[in-house]
Amino acid sequence: MKIKFCGAARQVTGSSHLITLDNGYKILLDCGLYQGRDKEMEDFNSTWLFDPKEIDCLILSHAHIDHTGRVPKLVKDGFKGDIFCTHATRSLCSIMLIDSAKIQERDAQYHNKKKFSKRKKKPLYNTHDVKKTLDLTTGLSYERSHRVCEGVKIMFRDAGHLLGSASVTLSIEESGKKPVTVGFTGDIGRPFRPILRDPRQMPEVDYLICESTYGNREHKAQPDELEDFLNVIKKICIDNKGKLLIPAFSIGRTQEIVYMLDRLENAGRLPRIPVYVDSPLAINATLVYGSHPECFDTDIHEYMLIDDDPFGFNKLQYVRDRGLSKRLNDIKTPCIVISASGMMNAGRIKHHLFNSMENPKNGLLMVGYCAPYTPGGQIRNGAKQLRLFGETRNLNMAVHEMYSFSAHADRVEIAGFIKNQQKLKKLFLVHGTHDVQEDFKSFLGKYGFNNVEIPDLAQEFEL
Ligand SMILES: [Zn+2]
Repeated sequence: MKIKFCGAARQVTGSSHLITLDNGYKILLDCGLYQGRDKEMEDFNSTWLFDPKEIDCLILSHAHIDHTGRVPKLVKDGFKGDIFCTHATRSLCSIMLIDSAKIQERDAQYHNKKKFSKRKKKPLYNTHDVKKTLDLTTGLSYERSHRVCEGVKIMFRDAGHLLGSASVTLSIEESGKKPVTVGFTGDIGRPFRPILRDPRQMPEVDYLICESTYGNREHKAQPDELEDFLNVIKKICIDNKGKLLIPAFSIGRTQEIVYMLDRLENAGRLPRIPVYVDSPLAINATLVYGSHPECFDTDIHEYMLIDDDPFGFNKLQYVRDRGLSKRLNDIKTPCIVISASGMMNAGRIKHHLFNSMENPKNGLLMVGYCAPYTPGGQIRNGAKQLRLFGETRNLNMAVHEMYSFSAHADRVEIAGFIKNQQKLKKLFLVHGTHDVQEDFKSFLGKYGFNNVEIPDLAQEFEL
């Protein structure tokens, strides 16, 4: 059999890896959207390194768009096989892919109306393609071995990275050969995070495709996360009487923050201030979270014996309505606004930032990764002014950061996650920038992993 790296090769986005069995059967692992501004990658999302019609089966590790965002395009271009993922991943995909289709449709309309280029921009797919995608998708349980086709079995195991996230273990028996196991870590989460279970080590495999996003980093310990969070709220909303903005990804990060606020509220420690979650996608995602308690860890299950809704309390209002979202800009009394996108380059948070940033009473709490070119990235790099909606504004609001929210394991945590892999014939590093991967490769040498490859895009290996 062969493996070809068709995305997230020396990159952190666009995950896609193709396994071709000796009999020609083709299994695609993930089918993610490339997200970024790299000129060289401009055509990545609209072209394929294989023929979609020839793919027999698609397996998804988790619902993040950089792992699933091109699936409707694959279906549109002729893929008719089965799509397998966990139950929760299927549920999250149903809202995230629709959202992605709508964003693309809106972007294309705006681009063509403004005539940014002579070439008309077309969305990669529409909501109809998403519906066809979901018809092909089957949700499977964790820890069960499922037959994919003659000689191929699959097992998902909790990766603790996002609701429904999984590592993938494939057991493959080809005629006349010894059985082979191929593992794909997907994105690896972190231990001791709220809501989700800790990542669980995969079974031992022969070949492992491993993510390396933070292959050169060790996260700072932030043991008093809840206290730190409460101190920021008190400083901005009580001492300064200001508004606290929290830019957060709609899925995962928002639910973690709301759950923290819910715990503070139940402990009688949350100040009497209104809290708004201003993101329709986050509202839909929270409903999906609530309907998949099978993915929760023991702590939140115990908590739910006291409070059956860990994502809702009296002071919290979910804002779907665009009019109310706009009215939040006029509120002059203390409040907390949690809104997307996490990098502040799009979505309602961009408007909140624009309207709140010049008032020194207000505060911004950064809890997630931001690409350097985005407003979030510029703020992290110390920008004192930002250009938003064609206008330059001063950043006078206080900026606070909390690092512990990362959903990706750092290099020590990844090494710990794979340290049981004692019979590996080869370890492929994917989903990381090339310099980080080179660092990680040497780091893994210390753990005894010597047969490590950093595949380039379109590179193929015989297994
Ligand atoms: Zn992910």
